[in-house]
Amino acid sequence: MPLTPPSIVRIPIAPAGMINAFLICQDPCYILVDSGLPGTEDKVARALERLGKSYSDISLIIITHAHIDHAGNAALLSQHSGAPILAHEADLPFYLGEKKMTFCATGWFGHAFKLTGAIQKPYQPFTPDILLTGDQSYCLKEYGIEGYVRPTTGHTCGSISVIIEDKVALVGDLISSGILLGGILFKGKAKRPPFEENPQAVGMALEALTDTGVTEFHMGHGGPLQRREVRRHARMLRSLKQ
Ligand SMILES: [Zn+2]
Ligand SMILES: [Zn+2]
Repeated sequence: MPLTPPSIVRIPIAPAGMINAFLICQDPCYILVDSGLPGTEDKVARALERLGKSYSDISLIIITHAHIDHAGNAALLSQHSGAPILAHEADLPFYLGEKKMTFCATGWFGHAFKLTGAIQKPYQPFTPDILLTGDQSYCLKEYGIEGYVRPTTGHTCGSISVIIEDKVALVGDLISSGILLGGILFKGKAKRPPFEENPQAVGMALEALTDTGVTEFHMGHGGPLQRREVRRHARMLRSLKQ
């Protein structure tokens, strides 16, 4: 294993931390975590360019869950890069475009956002090349990275997280920070994302991650957050009525 830890590069899909994708960089491997919205491939290309890289340097695309702001451009980026897509089977019907997603709003913003129809828009369907099932994890050793992908159900059934060296986690929408969609202001303060299927499961998944020693959390909206704030948020979620 390389001596230097991989670097995590945030890709601003939308400004002010409102929507993030990430690159996990351990030269010569570059893993893209989440694809961003349809039509935002130039943001990914620019992030790669800043590293002196291009689409063909992407080794793997990990999709944390099936919402459009995370999975919406996966098909196109896989075509451009030739990289396989890894995702969880529980969200497969949505990746295939076979089933419409349901959205459990967590507050007024979620309800208002749902009315715009933006989150429910269909996107180019795809079949993940690597499909996790049940509690199955996936080791990233073959990419030169001391880390793994593990199921963290709750935000959606098929939500997954990437854990690097047991210290850093990329958790998609298990947790957000900031205001409205996330980001903008108060980025150090955890909040629920606009939609969440099972808050108790999310609370358990976040607690389990902090129990493994993870101290730094990167998210799709806002962030990053430190362990203490994540623990506080997880406890609050677990105390919510079913
Ligand atoms: Zn989401
Ligand atoms: Zn999201």
